[in-house]
Amino acid sequence: MPELPDVESFKRYLDATSLHQRIAHVDVLSAYVLKGISARELAQRLKGCCFESSRRHGKHLFVRTDGDVWLRLHFGMTGSLRYFKDEEKAPPHTGVLFIFARDYRLAFDDQRKFGEVGLIKNVDEFLEKRALGPDALDIDLAEFKKMFTKHRGAVKSILMNQQSIAGIGNIYADEILFHARIHPATQIARLCYKDRRHLFRAMRHVLEKAVHYQADADRMPKTWLLSHREKRGKCPRCGRSLKSSTIGGRTAWFCPHCQRSAL
Ligand SMILES: [Zn+2]
Repeated sequence: MPELPDVESFKRYLDATSLHQRIAHVDVLSAYVLKGISARELAQRLKGCCFESSRRHGKHLFVRTDGDVWLRLHFGMTGSLRYFKDEEKAPPHTGVLFIFARDYRLAFDDQRKFGEVGLIKNVDEFLEKRALGPDALDIDLAEFKKMFTKHRGAVKSILMNQQSIAGIGNIYADEILFHARIHPATQIARLCYKDRRHLFRAMRHVLEKAVHYQADADRMPKTWLLSHREKRGKCPRCGRSLKSSTIGGRTAWFCPHCQRSAL
């Protein structure tokens, strides 16, 4: 499921391929992904426009056009982007196809169809309406610490709650807690000042590194939890068996030895 590092990679990919080209046509192959707009209206509004720049907030990507409107993309569970030449075949689960005037196309591909494509007028208004928290890579330590007074519950649930902090999902929440050596079920009220600082630093470290590796799991260090989170998986730090349990409705993987519980 695309999280902050994945969406940041999509942003950089889009910036490197799809800006400043006239859109000749927009083909909607799966209307499931459209939110608050019809296929016809999307095509009409974007025809003749160019993508000018992009902005990411949490797991959302916004693309500014020269037509006084922003394209809004959310990648759901399986969404991704692909830029390709006219004569090549579109990805198999293309939901929306942006056809540029000059020989190239950008596909929003989404097998499970939980992604979202729409148009908005104002990004800040949209973020406010969704009550999204600050972006996980934008937040400073002071702001991060404030989060702990506003919310209650298991630390992993708070990290995944987009209204408290935007961008972190199941995989990176586990990774961050593994690096901070905090048990995912720990109540946030139980975290001391030092734990909170550790958690903040682990969050920055993990997200920045993951962005650096273009969110490619195969390139991430083997000392990370990521490639070990499975049955019979061993902790890359101490070699003991990893455990899993359901926290906040999602499967958490952790090392019961390295990640102490303050319950
Ligand atoms: Zn361990």
